[in-house]
Amino acid sequence: MDYKDGAIEKREQLYEGKAKKVYATNDERFYIVSYKDDATAFNGQKKGTIVGKGVVNNRMSNFMMRLLEQEGVPTHFVEQLSDRETVVHRVEIVPLEVIVRNIAAGSLSQRLGLEEGTPLSCPVLEFCYKNDDLGDPMINNFHIYAMQLATREELAQIEEYAFKVNAFLQKRCAMAGVTLVDFKIEFGRDLSGRIILADEISPDTCRFWDSETGEKLDKDRFRRNLGGVEDAYAEIRRRLMGEE
Ligand code: UDP
Repeated sequence: MDYKDGAIEKREQLYEGKAKKVYATNDERFYIVSYKDDATAFNGQKKGTIVGKGVVNNRMSNFMMRLLEQEGVPTHFVEQLSDRETVVHRVEIVPLEVIVRNIAAGSLSQRLGLEEGTPLSCPVLEFCYKNDDLGDPMINNFHIYAMQLATREELAQIEEYAFKVNAFLQKRCAMAGVTLVDFKIEFGRDLSGRIILADEISPDTCRFWDSETGEKLDKDRFRRNLGGVEDAYAEIRRRLMGEE
């Protein structure tokens, strides 16, 4: 790819999401994402700020995506410009939240009556249709084909990558005394139609528990008003990336 350092300039804002802004650039192949400290939960009903979150999420997502590329998972990551801004490949997002779970928590616990912390005997893959008005309903592969959200080939690729991401993150977390409970990822189609990992991998989108104490080191501290939110983000940054 003929990307030249420093040659990418930010142009107009295309989109503002709950946690990130996306900008066009002077090169149609690339976007710039900018991570905010804004936090929302329960489909935007709860709002707040987590000071420094944007920096942690930007750096962690880039760190993990760089390593995932080496594991054979193509990603949208191109270059980190600053603590909060990153150049990414332009993609068309596949409107699916792809969730992988190793331990019961959150909505799965509620839906199936499994106590939080119950280990699942194999990883569970779920899909939600990304649609705020509908509250991101859970769907299965047949809904995805029927609604033409992705083809069979694309979904097979997404599943393969999702399990690869899980195996990689689980290993990485175990090294740092962290249990990877579950996470959500998103994929996009690049300009050639190839499926690549997009969006982010961060404490906003993963459940991380301290392996010894079970302490929550992720956005559940914000969702559930547990306090110590900023400290938890700083701790997970130290543990998973070795950064102060
Ligand atoms: N998740 C996310 N964005 C969402 C919903 C879920 O990043 O809009 C992540 C969440 O952080 C957790 C995993 O996906 O790591 C599974 O979330 P769950 O379905 O249990 O929903 P929740 O309890 O967070 O509403």
